[in-house]
Amino acid sequence: MRKKIVAGNWKMNLSLEEAQSLHSEINDALETSEFNCEVYHFVPSIYLSTLLESDQKVNVGSQNGYPAKNGAFTGEVSMSQLSGIGTKAVLIGHSERRQLFNESDILLKEKVDAALEEDLKVFFCCGETLEERESGQYKQTVIKQLKNSLFHLPSKEFAKIVIAYEPIWAIGTGKTASPEQANEMHKSIREAIEHAYTQEIAQNTSILYGGSCKPSNATELLNQSDIDGGLIGGASLKSEDFLKIIATY
Ligand code: PGA
Repeated sequence: MRKKIVAGNWKMNLSLEEAQSLHSEINDALETSEFNCEVYHFVPSIYLSTLLESDQKVNVGSQNGYPAKNGAFTGEVSMSQLSGIGTKAVLIGHSERRQLFNESDILLKEKVDAALEEDLKVFFCCGETLEERESGQYKQTVIKQLKNSLFHLPSKEFAKIVIAYEPIWAIGTGKTASPEQANEMHKSIREAIEHAYTQEIAQNTSILYGGSCKPSNATELLNQSDIDGGLIGGASLKSEDFLKIIATY
């Protein structure tokens, strides 16, 4: 059985105080409620140390990491530094990193390798633009992203990857992929994994949906046959909304 996962991507939001109180509200709520999924908070890196101290029900991950272990990379934080302070997981390839910071498939491949070497759980994001969706190129685009940055991995390493499909046109826009559109892509991703690896690995890979997922659409989206959870941006910043999404499982 594949793991169900609900992960919050806080992006560059929240003061330290707000971050601490949101993290503990979610932890406290999960202490006393039934839920059947793994829960993650991907937080700004300066809050990692503090939040890792109260890492209980909610796993704490980084939104980024640099592949080199150390050296002259001003402003960057390495995968090895992240793992050194006890970080559990890292987001790689978010479309904001690809688009705003020009992160290429080659760099993302290096990040994936470095993160796995440090035993970080990799949440690898992929997704197409509106133009690619409308021109019918969306499946090719996403599969190419996976081929270029992930499919070089040996099976044992690939088996540790979580994939997050996030159509760029649905991120922060209020437009969600319909459950059918999302599930169709998730199926194609799973087929590509089966083609590159084995049916067993494909069936065991958790593939999350992200892009304007909120309490009002989470039940339908997250219960599709090939959707194993959500990567939640805006709605992860309000404890009530995030808890409702977690309660889907
Ligand atoms: P959103 O963001 O839920 O605000 O659309 C999702 C993401 O970018 O991970």
